[in-house]
Amino acid sequence: MADDQKPDRPGEYEVRRPQAKGLRELVAPVAGFGVTFSSMFRPTVTEQYPRQKVPPKPRYHGRHQLNRYPDGLEKCIGCELCAWACPADAIYVEGADNADLPDGGHMSPGERYGRVYQINYLRCIFCGLCIEACPTRALTMTNEYELAGPTREGMIWEKQDLLAPLREGMLAAPHPMVPGTSDTEYYRGEVSGPVAEQVEWVREHRPDDPTLPPEPAGREPEVRRVAQPSGRSARPSARKGAR
Ligand code: SF4
Ligand code: SF4
Repeated sequence: MADDQKPDRPGEYEVRRPQAKGLRELVAPVAGFGVTFSSMFRPTVTEQYPRQKVPPKPRYHGRHQLNRYPDGLEKCIGCELCAWACPADAIYVEGADNADLPDGGHMSPGERYGRVYQINYLRCIFCGLCIEACPTRALTMTNEYELAGPTREGMIWEKQDLLAPLREGMLAAPHPMVPGTSDTEYYRGEVSGPVAEQVEWVREHRPDDPTLPPEPAGREPEVRRVAQPSGRSARPSARKGAR
């Protein structure tokens, strides 16, 4: 280090970077503008959000979604593994027993379902660890990124906000499972839609349910259960849409 870079008085900072000399010392104060000037002639890359919305990449981690089986039952079993895996403590789950629902109705296949499910988007860092922890692929992430809100309370998303919408042919829960099946058949993707017994149960308990199919004149509702393939087990259908 040159002698002129040493502090004159004890306690002063030492200048440790090389000092410009001669012409370079003269243009040093405006040298940074060279970057600005050269950038003026390059194409603009600014995204005109929100007027133009650029779709994110397919594997982008956006807001969560609680998925359903093809007959409308929820995949979440209220196990809380996602909440335990979350490093930001953003998930709150309360499970409950399907046996406590009246007349054999189920919210999900098996014993338990998620009665309360909340994600606090003020805490979530979109790491995706909750997705990895979920044993039923109930929880996945969508590409939605517009999550801002005017209130802190509004940033806590409830189960009804996170549940996947009922697709064409699905029957709103609660209703019984497909007769003769367990949660294993559901997980293996062997249930591909509601069967007549489920439709009849909903028609009896909630005759005004908008997800009921129109009553066929003198015809049984369609039974759309897929037979289990012999040999190897089928892959869970839920994984097809999982991100
Ligand atoms: S994405 Fe990460 S931070 Fe957000 S809820 Fe899941 S585990 Fe928690
Ligand atoms: S989303 Fe998955 S991990 Fe979380 S409570 Fe439901 S089943 Fe368990």
